[in-house]
Amino acid sequence: MTEFDCEETKKHVHEFLKSELPERELDEITSHIANCDSCESDYDFENVFNSVIVRSCTEAPPQELADRVLAKIREMQTNPHS
Ligand SMILES: [Zn+2]
Repeated sequence: MTEFDCEETKKHVHEFLKSELPERELDEITSHIANCDSCESDYDFENVFNSVIVRSCTEAPPQELADRVLAKIREMQTNPHS
């Protein structure tokens, strides 16, 4: 498993938002963002997801993905050592 740094996260964030990333990379990006203030503020995820959800009415809604990722980020921020 590769550790995603800020550079990797930025490269993959669009695939991430389109739900095109494999589960493993999704986890990498999620944990990077949860632990990186810079990326977290860059990708104000609640807003980003909301706009993606609004725009994607013709595709499968990423609501479930958004919920899952946001829950995970919050969990990591609450329990940074878990
Ligand atoms: Zn970062």
